Amino acid sequence: MDWHKLPLTEQLAKLKAGEVSSVELAKALLSFIEEKDQKIKAFIKVTKEEALKQAEEADERRRKGDNAPLLGVPLAIKDNICIKGVETTCASKMLENFVPPFDATVITKLKEAGAVFLGKTNLDEFAMGSSTENSAFFPTHNPWDVERVPGGSSGGSAAAVAAGFCAGALGSDTGGSIRQPASFCGVVGLKPTYGRVSRYGLVAFASSLDQIGPITRTVKDTALILQVIAGKDPMDSTSVPKEVPNYLEELNMDISGAKIGVPEEYFGEGLSDEVREKIEDALKVFEKLGCQIKKVSLPHTPYAVAAYYIIAPAEASSNLARYDGVKYGLRVEGKDLIDMYKKTRSQGFGPEVKRRIMIGTYALSAGYYDAYYKKASQVRTLISQDFANAFEEVDFIVGPAAPTPAFKIGERISDPLQMYLSDIYTISVNLAGIVALSLPCGFTSQGLPVGMQIMGPHFSETKVLALGHKFEEETKFYEKYPEV
Ligand code: GLN
Repeated sequence: MDWHKLPLTEQLAKLKAGEVSSVELAKALLSFIEEKDQKIKAFIKVTKEEALKQAEEADERRRKGDNAPLLGVPLAIKDNICIKGVETTCASKMLENFVPPFDATVITKLKEAGAVFLGKTNLDEFAMGSSTENSAFFPTHNPWDVERVPGGSSGGSAAAVAAGFCAGALGSDTGGSIRQPASFCGVVGLKPTYGRVSRYGLVAFASSLDQIGPITRTVKDTALILQVIAGKDPMDSTSVPKEVPNYLEELNMDISGAKIGVPEEYFGEGLSDEVREKIEDALKVFEKLGCQIKKVSLPHTPYAVAAYYIIAPAEASSNLARYDGVKYGLRVEGKDLIDMYKKTRSQGFGPEVKRRIMIGTYALSAGYYDAYYKKASQVRTLISQDFANAFEEVDFIVGPAAPTPAFKIGERISDPLQMYLSDIYTISVNLAGIVALSLPCGFTSQGLPVGMQIMGPHFSETKVLALGHKFEEETKFYEKYPEV
């Protein structure tokens, strides 16, 4: 049985039917990882022993009649989300030996739901990047073409799902880090509404933007994971006390007649022809499904990248102040306290993290605050208003998830601006705090996956997932698998 080719829902059905035990499934995937991850390098750490123990427990629970929603299913977790007793490195030397004494709320929930954790996946250091090349340890390779990046920062999670190491993973998305890698790797990724999923136990990057979300092969699987991890958490005051709908049940809701907005600003300069073509094909599929396509405008889109690269570094410079050699992780001794701080932070952080701390500190400093941070915050409000205006006319907004397919490893690493531009279509969503789903909508002539983004208003996950599900049922791009 090719377990690695099955979506999560199908693995689960076979577990339920007793056709496979969780231990057998975990073993099959672990040996597939052992064989193939040398090439992909999706995992920073594979937690084999823990996984097998969790799988045994899951089998035991099932024997006792437990029917928890993810019972016995193996998942992978981005290495900036804490699992008690397992190193959480954020792909940084700073946290190389950090072992969290607690579970993130999403992990607690997944454990209750019966999930098994195969390991921690690679990312750009502290989730800062778009290619996973900023990992302090090694880059991850795209399963569709190992010379290319998997995207970032959740590149390890997206590559793991694409390669079939697991059918589901968690990522985090501050400016596109779930959706852009999902698009590069031909898988599905959801950035939920800000406040839908607790961030307790997610290592903070930019707290007004960060969200945790699922990465899977199908929209249905994303709905299943979201169902488990969504909801108010007393440990995260930004999580919203709003009832969690039944996403799975609503997947088949009627979406005919839905109005889909297509923003002209998402089809301008920098968009590759092949991506444009695939998105245009996708729009025809929506028309066939009975949706109405309408032009809309999000006029402040051209300022999103600039605003984000002030706001996110500003918040990061504050969040990362805690890594001082005293509280967490690395400590490099010096001749006095200040010297110890300097040495620890100079040696612990990589170049991109340092760049962000410097930009952020500058943008927040007296005399520059109004010109940079305040201005960027004002632009952020305008971007939110753009979406609010558009959603008065349409139910969804559809466009490309990234301007190009996966680029080559090394191609953009020395040009931060080029790298930042790969987030041009994802960043506005975080600034506005709305929902967006990235899902495969075709392949280029070179066989590289192209991702489409479906955006919806705050807390419209139900509808966005339903629309995505209809599209994937019609097109079935998820059936294509990269022979790794
Ligand atoms: N690529 C963006 C950045 O480098 C987004 C990262 C993210 O969403 N974590 O900031």
